Amino acid sequence: MQVLVLNSGSSSIKYRLFDDSLTLLASGLVERIGEASGRAVHRRHDEGGPAELVEQAAFDDHAAGFRSLIAALEQGGLGEELRAIGHRVVHGGEEFVAPSLIDDEVVARIRAQVPLAPLHNPANLTGIEVAASLRPELPQVAVFDTAFHGTLPARAYRYALPTELYREHGVRRYGFHGTSHAFVARRAAAHLGRSLGELDLITLHLGNGASATAISGGRSIDTSMGLTPLEGLVMGTRCGDVDPAVLLHLHRQAGYDLDEIDRLLNRSSGLLGLCGENDLREIDRRARAGDADAELALDVYTYRIRKYLGAYTAALGGLDAVVFTAGVGENQPGVRARVCDDLEVLGIRLDASSNASADVGAAPDGVVAVHAADARVAVLVVATDEEREIAEQTLQALGGTVSRP
Ligand code: ADP
Repeated sequence: MQVLVLNSGSSSIKYRLFDDSLTLLASGLVERIGEASGRAVHRRHDEGGPAELVEQAAFDDHAAGFRSLIAALEQGGLGEELRAIGHRVVHGGEEFVAPSLIDDEVVARIRAQVPLAPLHNPANLTGIEVAASLRPELPQVAVFDTAFHGTLPARAYRYALPTELYREHGVRRYGFHGTSHAFVARRAAAHLGRSLGELDLITLHLGNGASATAISGGRSIDTSMGLTPLEGLVMGTRCGDVDPAVLLHLHRQAGYDLDEIDRLLNRSSGLLGLCGENDLREIDRRARAGDADAELALDVYTYRIRKYLGAYTAALGGLDAVVFTAGVGENQPGVRARVCDDLEVLGIRLDASSNASADVGAAPDGVVAVHAADARVAVLVVATDEEREIAEQTLQALGGTVSRP
């Protein structure tokens, strides 16, 4: 039995194929859908065929992209045992706090969330509709980025805005990156040999997008992203927390219209806005070479994370472990060192050499401990795998048994 995980964007489809013990069999990407020259890359991870197949072609629409990936799987002798498709869906609103087996009603309910995620949910829906029409015999499951945060208490999810904005327009904190936070929390607990139910964790998903989550007993009790993935930590091109009056000021004093403000906050702010660069590898290199803007960008970025560590320790009323994950969290020891520097007050102290040499790719369980032997709080680097989590939740939603590797 195999499960295919699809992450459909506006002009791309990313996919991964797993067997029922969650071993990765194949992965790939169809991109520039709808453009004159598209590209597909198909990789397989078992021993059965060529490791990589690249296809340059025009993919008119998502259906053409989906056919390409199914053809690549079948050509490689994979896909015959395909039994289910799991879809990443960005926004489930308050409607979805668990994975859902997709039928017409679920599609309509996902569509009803589009105003909350106008850029993402329509693309996710296109993927669902294409897969359902081309492979109608397969059950399809929607797994939501927001669902893990369905356990937030009202004091964490409500903004101090008039109640009717919440009731009538759904204005509240939803949180994102939920599949990643859930996955790394479980991996961290397994690595520590403890039950998730007894742990207070702060998970830091630091990629291009970035969010922090406070997890008590396996339940998300607060998270830094809000109504949209713009709030909270400093990100590659997104500002994270700002005084909302900055928007009014920009409009009134500098003549920015709404679209310009949207672009500014989402695409030209964050690390990019502070130093003209959003790749932390390059920022790190520049900062080491004495570049003041890069140094400031790193300082603002890590200071924001440190503030969330303090706030979430208070929210949790204790702290057992901090988890670093995603591109930056897994691969940038300098960022981890700055975040954890001089935080003994929270029980956090790194072991400099474990931190510098941490290689999650080489760790059998994808987890490396980087705290000092006598530190009160564990600091773990955990390789995230959102697609594997979606595959697992898809199988669970279908009542399948999963043997975790
Ligand atoms: P996304 O949110 O798009 O999935 P990623 O999780 O890949 O993004 O994170 C992108 C960031 O991670 C970039 O700033 C990049 O500098 C950093 N990063 C990714 N891979 C590495 C690596 N191998 N070494 C150092 N930094 C990395």
